[in-house]
Amino acid sequence: MEIQHPKLVQFLNTIVANSANRDNTKTVAEIIADGLLVLRSYPENSAVYLYLMDEIDFDFRFSSSNPVTESEQSAHIFAELQEQGIIGEALSTAGAVTYYGSSAGQHSYIVLPLAVPTSVLGVIILENTPDEDPPSRPLLQLCELSANQFAYALYNTKLVQRLTYNQSVLEQKVSARTIHLEQMQRELKTILDSIQTGIVIIDAETKEILDANPAALEMMKAEKNAVIGKHHSEFFPQDELSTSQNTEKIESSLLQSDGESLPVIETSATIHLGPHRRIIHSFLDISVRKNFEDALLRANLMLEERVQERTTELNALVRKLTNEVTERERAEEAARIALEREKELSELKSNFVSMVSHEFRTPLTTILSYTQILQLYKGKWTEEDEEKYLKNIQVAVARMTDLLNDVLFIGSSNTGAISVNLRVVNLFELCNSVIEELRFTDTNKHTVNYKFDYLGSGLRTDEKLLRQIVVNLLSNAAKYSPLNTDIDVRVFRDNGHAVIEVQDRGIGIPAESIGSIFESFHRADNVGNISGTGLGLAIVKQSVDLLGGEISVESELNEGTTFTVKLPIQ
Ligand code: ADP
Repeated sequence: MEIQHPKLVQFLNTIVANSANRDNTKTVAEIIADGLLVLRSYPENSAVYLYLMDEIDFDFRFSSSNPVTESEQSAHIFAELQEQGIIGEALSTAGAVTYYGSSAGQHSYIVLPLAVPTSVLGVIILENTPDEDPPSRPLLQLCELSANQFAYALYNTKLVQRLTYNQSVLEQKVSARTIHLEQMQRELKTILDSIQTGIVIIDAETKEILDANPAALEMMKAEKNAVIGKHHSEFFPQDELSTSQNTEKIESSLLQSDGESLPVIETSATIHLGPHRRIIHSFLDISVRKNFEDALLRANLMLEERVQERTTELNALVRKLTNEVTERERAEEAARIALEREKELSELKSNFVSMVSHEFRTPLTTILSYTQILQLYKGKWTEEDEEKYLKNIQVAVARMTDLLNDVLFIGSSNTGAISVNLRVVNLFELCNSVIEELRFTDTNKHTVNYKFDYLGSGLRTDEKLLRQIVVNLLSNAAKYSPLNTDIDVRVFRDNGHAVIEVQDRGIGIPAESIGSIFESFHRADNVGNISGTGLGLAIVKQSVDLLGGEISVESELNEGTTFTVKLPIQ
């Protein structure tokens, strides 16, 4: 470049001087003032305008000028150059563009972009007094150089400013964060110190205790310096401290420094503090709860024992009550039996009264009528008549005596007042004599067949009772059988028993009465006019029982009846 023009030389010197005078401590305003001053030394320059690009809306705004001008005028110049496309051209070519304005003759303009490679900072407009010749290329290059210098200086200063600002903001943030952290640390410590949960911090690698809060120390019964650096197993021998996350609560025990064991519930969690891994082991004293549980257990056991005792007592009571109930039932049963007996007795009494009134009336009437005849016709009857009347009276008395004897026997046997006199009796003779008596009294109205197959004749028994049995069975057979029918009497030996069988071909006993005929005063419905007391079979049954024998009956209505008596041979 050939520089001859003295103003050009001056311009160049100014640029060089300014570039040597770089100072990072200058403010943006100083940089701008310097920049404008350099460009103001451009030959024939009348003014320099600076328009900076707004970083938010990317619009160019007038910043300052040398000399100082009205912003209105500077805006007007910018608008005109923009309209003419000069501003756009300068920005797109990143180089100086010359313009001869509409008010030609007065001013010419050089538009210089103020830019660094990464961003556009603004635009500089040089307002010059027009020469005949357009500015030479070297002159324009000098302008571009100066604008570049200006742009870098401005950019650097802004960067420095921003950096300084950012740094100060960062510093403020760091100090605020530090304060916050310190505050948090204090709060954390306060929390750790104040909570009732014991917390120890353990080195995850060595399992050494690094710190412990007051609650932990209290539970461990140890000073802090006796705990720090100790292996965790000295206080937690049961725990397998795993470094995996374990927030599950488990029941364990803490070995206190005095050797006592404290039941605790605990959790542990692993955290990363920078390069270190720490286990936060927290635990809570549950001795009160444990004691309570133990007490509860003991109370439960005691209660169970009490319940057991009470159950035993109740069982005893239930047994006693059951016995009492059984006793009462027994008493009630006895009372019922007694009542039934009472009823039976009262029935017996009324039956007895009706029987007596009926059965005694006939012989009494007989006796009365014959004694009246004897009284009325004294001496007027034959000896034969007298004999007959007296005989009839005797028969009637005998009948009454029999009746009374029967009643007395039943009464005595009910009270158990009958004695048994055992002696050997001639069985054949006894039965034969009864049959003979019957034949006599029955006046041969029936045929009595007597078969004796006893193989011997003696039987050790009570003669009176045995006679009563045979007499009643035979007289009944005759009484309840039609005239001229057979009565069979069989005596034989069977399996250690003497058996007496009396069979008739009479009216028979209805099935419904079979079960009751041995009861006193019971008479079957089919007896009709046949007289009787209902005592005969009762006497038979009592006598058989007293002799230790058995009696059975088989009967068919209108066909006949067979009574079988079995007496033991002793
Ligand atoms: P009684 O003959 O005086 O009525 P018993 O005690 O001797 O009393 O007999 C009770 C009842 O048994 C009789 O009333 C009768 O109904 C029945 N009985 C007893 N023996 C016979 C018999 N051989 N044939 C049919 N009925 C009989």
